[in-house]
Amino acid sequence: MAEKKHLLEVNHLKTSFYTDSGEVKAVNDVSYYIDEQEIVAVVGESGCGKSVTQMSVMQLIQSPPGKILGGEAILEGRDILKFRATSKEMRAVRGEKISMIFQEPMTSLNPVITVGKQLTEVIRTHKKVSRKEAWQMGVDALANVGIPEPEARMKNYPFEMSGGMRQRVMIAVAVACNSRLIIADEPTTALDVTTQAQVMELLLDVVDKMKTSLIVVTHNLGLVTRYADRIYVMYAGRIIESGTTEDLITKPCHPYTIGLLNAVPKLDANEHEQLTTIEGAPPDLANLPDTCAFLPRCPYAAESCRKLPCPELQQVGEHGHFSACHLKIRREDT
Ligand code: SF4
Repeated sequence: MAEKKHLLEVNHLKTSFYTDSGEVKAVNDVSYYIDEQEIVAVVGESGCGKSVTQMSVMQLIQSPPGKILGGEAILEGRDILKFRATSKEMRAVRGEKISMIFQEPMTSLNPVITVGKQLTEVIRTHKKVSRKEAWQMGVDALANVGIPEPEARMKNYPFEMSGGMRQRVMIAVAVACNSRLIIADEPTTALDVTTQAQVMELLLDVVDKMKTSLIVVTHNLGLVTRYADRIYVMYAGRIIESGTTEDLITKPCHPYTIGLLNAVPKLDANEHEQLTTIEGAPPDLANLPDTCAFLPRCPYAAESCRKLPCPELQQVGEHGHFSACHLKIRREDT
């Protein structure tokens, strides 16, 4: 049987920032993939490198101080990291092939240009259509993401819209460009709980209708277990566990994943049950140890963990279940 081609395959990605405190290894040899029409989550605490990984793939890292030091990102057979960040090819990748949705849409939307003008500009960058056609496509895209009175909304400035509405506009950009992959970086974190659910539902609806793929970057493991096909867990710039959502929930192997799962509120929890948190703080990425980076916080650390080098990912089960831990730990054993 012919091997299935991934939509995007990232191999051995390394990105560092050069600061006064030294080299900050934000992304340290990260490999992952996503298939057509797949929903993949990248989960971890803030500062673990999950956003920098995606920004590197999109070549949106500010340089200096940031620098992509190595690796490849194969999209439709081409290594997009070989394109210059400002090249025509890379601009075509951003939008036409991959759309990125950020936590705060104001970072992508220009506050002094109307939503309509911004939408039509993006559409005309990627599609050979007249201004009038692009305007109509923009109106349709706003209607498709549930924005009422889309004609009137096209004339609004971003600040005249609520946070939830602005996030809908960003999703409309992905709809209008017909992107094959949407990368949503903490898309609902800045919104209130009700709007969070609505935006997430809209995103899943768009992914389903457009038959696109979705990477959700989040600190909230509980949020993604409901809809992600597979999950990558990141810690200190590395992927420390990956697998299908079912395997990760039912058979987590890495103590950090176990900690994240224990921190997810349970629906059937009684009022006296306390949520466990992972004690301690993530390591300084400018001063990473040679041993396992989770060691100071790990409740399962053994004497051998203090002597052995940082563990590599190893297969621990079927369906691409990998974990980077010297001890084989399963949640049911704990
Ligand atoms: Fe904990 Fe050791 Fe596994 Fe690191 S290698 S996560 S310290 S048990």
